[in-house]
Amino acid sequence: MYVLKKNIEISIIYDNNVEKKTMPQDVYDKVIMLAKRRGFIYPSFEIYGGVAGLYDYGPLGSQLKNNLENLWRYFYIYKDSCLEINTPTITLYDVLEASGHVDEFTDLTVDCEDCKLSFKVEDIIEDESSIQQAIKDETLICPTCGGKLINPHPVNLMFATKIGIGKTRDAFLRPETAQGIFTGFHLLYRYAREKLPFGVIQLGKGYRNEVSPRQGPIRMREFSMAEAEVFFDPNNKSHKNFSEVKDHILYLYDNESEFQLTMEDAVSKGVINNQALSYYMYLTQTILIQGGVDPKKFRFRKHADDELAHYAEECWDAELFSERFGWVECVGIADRSAYDINAHIEASKTDMYAMRRYESPKIVKHKKIVPKMNILGPKLKDKAGDIKAIIDEMEVTGQIENLTIPFEGEEYLIPKDAYDVVEVEEKEAGEKFIPHVIEPSYGIDRILYCILEHNYKEIEKENESYHLLSLPYQMAPIKTGVFPLIKDESLTCISEKIDKTLREHGISTSYDETGTIGRRYARMDEIGTPFCITVDHDTLDDKKVTMRNRDTREQERIDIDALPDFFKKQK
Ligand code: AMP
Repeated sequence: MYVLKKNIEISIIYDNNVEKKTMPQDVYDKVIMLAKRRGFIYPSFEIYGGVAGLYDYGPLGSQLKNNLENLWRYFYIYKDSCLEINTPTITLYDVLEASGHVDEFTDLTVDCEDCKLSFKVEDIIEDESSIQQAIKDETLICPTCGGKLINPHPVNLMFATKIGIGKTRDAFLRPETAQGIFTGFHLLYRYAREKLPFGVIQLGKGYRNEVSPRQGPIRMREFSMAEAEVFFDPNNKSHKNFSEVKDHILYLYDNESEFQLTMEDAVSKGVINNQALSYYMYLTQTILIQGGVDPKKFRFRKHADDELAHYAEECWDAELFSERFGWVECVGIADRSAYDINAHIEASKTDMYAMRRYESPKIVKHKKIVPKMNILGPKLKDKAGDIKAIIDEMEVTGQIENLTIPFEGEEYLIPKDAYDVVEVEEKEAGEKFIPHVIEPSYGIDRILYCILEHNYKEIEKENESYHLLSLPYQMAPIKTGVFPLIKDESLTCISEKIDKTLREHGISTSYDETGTIGRRYARMDEIGTPFCITVDHDTLDDKKVTMRNRDTREQERIDIDALPDFFKKQK
C-alpha cells in the first residue's frame, strides 16, 4: 500500500499566478503580494514570463536580508569567534565528486507522459520505495494536467558548467558553501594556530536545479546559505561557552511528540549527542527568535536514522511553521563526523590531518632503508635519484625479502648488497587525526519568508483594514519614518534636518510629506518600521517631536537632540 500526498493541488500554483488565483487567499498569498508591492521580494525576469525558483530582493528585501545576515554574523563571529571566508561559487567537478555530490545529490523524479512536466517523487507519494508499484498500478496522476506519471529516475540537482575555453575543466555551481571551507581546511587550521576547536563561516549563494520549485522562497534554484563548519577533536566535542548557557530551554521534537529540555538535560539524557551540537542548536534558536520567528512556530526535529544524509552522524533541523507549507526545514545542524575532510584527503592526497600534540615530543624508533648509491647509481643510471627518493619515503615493517620499487610503470629489483637496513630515532610531536565537523547550515530565504509570515498582521481600524509587519527593531529595514505634519516650509526644513542627522548616525529613515498622517503611519506599519517621528507646530517652540510606536501605537514627545540616542538604545 502507498499513500499519495494530499496538498499537491495547492503546492503546484506558481507564485506568478498568486494574484490571478480564484481560490481564497491564505497568509502566504497575502505575504507574497505585500512583499512584491512593497519591494521585499518578487519573481525574477517576470517581463519574460519569469522562471520558477528565481527571485529578486527589492530595496526593502535586500535591507531585511542584510539585517538577518548581520545578526547571524554577530552570533558566529562575536559570540563564537568563528572566522569568515569567501570561496568561489563555481566549484571543480573533482571537489564535488570527492564530497559525494556527483553520485548522491539526486532527487527521485517522475515525468508526465502528456505535459512532460517532472515532479519529485517525494512530493507525490509518502513512501518513495513504493513508487515502482504505484507506477505499475497506474495510480499516479499528473497534478497539473491529469496525465499519467511514468519513468521514475534519479536526477542530479547540480548545475553543470565548464571552466575555460577550448581546454576546459568540468565544474558545477556549488550546491552548498561548505565544500569551499573543507578544501581550504589545511590552510585555515594553520591560520587558527593548529588549535581545535575552531569554526569557519561562509555566507553566499547555493544553486540547486530543483525539479519542481513551486513553493516561492521556500524552494529556490538560487538561494542564500549561511553555513558554519566547526572543527573538533573527535575525543572532545565540548564547547567552551556551554556552562554559560546550559540552563537554556531548547524546543525539541522527536518525530512523535514536542517537548522542552534544558541544554544540560538534553545532553546528559543522551537526547542530543554532545555539548557542541547542543550549543549550535542554542545559537540557532536564539538567532531565529531574535530575528522575529514566533517561538510557538519553532522546533528542532531530530532526523530518524533512515533519513540521515550520507555524511551525517546526527542531525537536527530547525523547523519553522508556515500556514501554507506546514513545518519547514530552515536550518540543518549536522554532526558530519570526519566524512568531508577524509574524502578530500583521499581524493586530493593532501595532508589535511590535525595534530594532537604530546606534552613533550616522543622518541620513536624506525627502521629505514639506506640505499648504497655507489652500487645503485651505475645500475639504475638516470633513474637512480628518483628511486632513491621513493626508498627514502618507505616505511619498513618486518623482514624485507625482495625489495622491488614500482617506477614509471616498471618494477625495479634492488639487490640485497645495494642497501642497508638501519634503525633510526625520530622525534614525534604528536599523533595525527582527522577532525570532526559540526555544521549548522541556514537557508536565509526560507527564514526570511517565515519571519515575514510570522509577523504579518491584519489590523481593522475605523472600517478600514491594513497590514502590519511586527518585525523586531534590529530586523526592520527602515527604523523610523520622518514626517512634517503638513507640507509647510517651517516644518519640512526641520524634518529634513532630522532625517539627515539620523542617517549620518547610521539609522535608516524614510522621509515622507505626502498624505494624511494616518496614511503615512499605515505605509510604515506595512513594511515593519517600528517608529515614526512627526514634526508639528509645537516643535517650533519646544524643539520636541512626536514619536509614535508601531506596536503600542503610543505617542510621546522627545527632544530633537535626544533622537540619535533614542535609536541607539533600541534592541
Ligand atoms: P541542506 O544542505 O539541504 O540541508 O540545506 C541547508 C539549508 O538550505 C536548508 O535547511 C534550507 O533552509 C535551505 N535550502 C535547501 N534547499 C533550498 C532551496 N531549494 N531553496 C531555498 N532554501 C533551501
